[in-house]
Amino acid sequence: MRAVSYAAYGEIPVLRDLPDPTCPADGIVVRVAATGVCRSDWHAWLGHDPVPLPMVPGHEFAGTVAAVGADVRRWRVGDRVTVPFACGCGVCEVCRAGDTHVCPSQTQPGFTGWGSFAELVAVSAADANVVGLPESVGFVEAAALGCRLATAYRAVVSVGRVARGEWLVVHGCGGVGLSAVLVGVALGARVVGVDVSEAARAAALGLGAAAAVAPGADLVAITEGGAHVSVDAIGSVDVLAASVRSLRPRGRHVQVGLLLGSAAEAAVPMGAVISRELEVLGSHGMPSRDYPGLLALVASGAIDPRRLVGRVIGLESAGAALAGMSEPTGAAGSAGAVGSAGAAGAAGSVGLTAGITVVELPEGVC
Ligand SMILES: [Zn+2]
Ligand SMILES: [Zn+2]
Repeated sequence: MRAVSYAAYGEIPVLRDLPDPTCPADGIVVRVAATGVCRSDWHAWLGHDPVPLPMVPGHEFAGTVAAVGADVRRWRVGDRVTVPFACGCGVCEVCRAGDTHVCPSQTQPGFTGWGSFAELVAVSAADANVVGLPESVGFVEAAALGCRLATAYRAVVSVGRVARGEWLVVHGCGGVGLSAVLVGVALGARVVGVDVSEAARAAALGLGAAAAVAPGADLVAITEGGAHVSVDAIGSVDVLAASVRSLRPRGRHVQVGLLLGSAAEAAVPMGAVISRELEVLGSHGMPSRDYPGLLALVASGAIDPRRLVGRVIGLESAGAALAGMSEPTGAAGSAGAVGSAGAAGAAGSVGLTAGITVVELPEGVC
């Protein structure tokens, strides 16, 4: 197969001929039709997040089933599919409960094995992880759901349980944050975006936010008594505290931005949590069982992932697009849901203004 790979961290990924992936007995091989370029691939490429080498990056993809393992029941050659970025083992207690995205033995294409900057990619435990695509959802749109929109959907809908008319505050309007704004608006929530960047605030308003403010604004006043749901899409101790304090009684704080290093032990204003009976919730990725709700919003037109797409490029340009994320104003950039705290912060604000880069592959034989 033709695939983009790197053999050393920081070496420009190059398109070359590589062996086709072997189809696992419990898995499938997908012929990739579209794949997103995400900052978490960039972190792996630079060795911030060590991966086995050589590596083929890419974890946000859609395509058609090219091969099916002997033990797979749900999928047939030719099915149109997409796959969450974190795949469960399919057999443990966590996976059997449907929570494949937090499986202790999870696999991630582009990180634990070769990813989707390739004509073909193998996916294990296909019955537990693979998601069927409605005919009305295109491959580029599905790839653009990527980890950002999927992560935002789970945070706002499945974990935050936001309801029509409720106030949703989104702290950090980068890749994941603006996706959360899009989801909140689609569900009829009253959304407030918070970001230091004027461009990011303008983007939030452009997506339908009721208000967009700089950090430090009186969020309790703006939300008429406090947010019902507040999302930290940045991953910062201070933002987490501000988010919790912005909630009304019985409000839900959802932590999406990763808290890394010393921030992993962040203090939470537990006095407020107890006196107002707040909920402090974590959200990380999205399991396959949550996809139908998101895909229905896409199919109905309530969410248009194409609004998040900046450029569509060919596979031969994918390596340069990934390397281009090193530029401070990287046109290829946008915050990755599995990236670092910084990636979802200021850099993400710049990135999403430029949009997600999606690699489109010609359909047909290879
Ligand atoms: Zn599992
Ligand atoms: Zn991603």
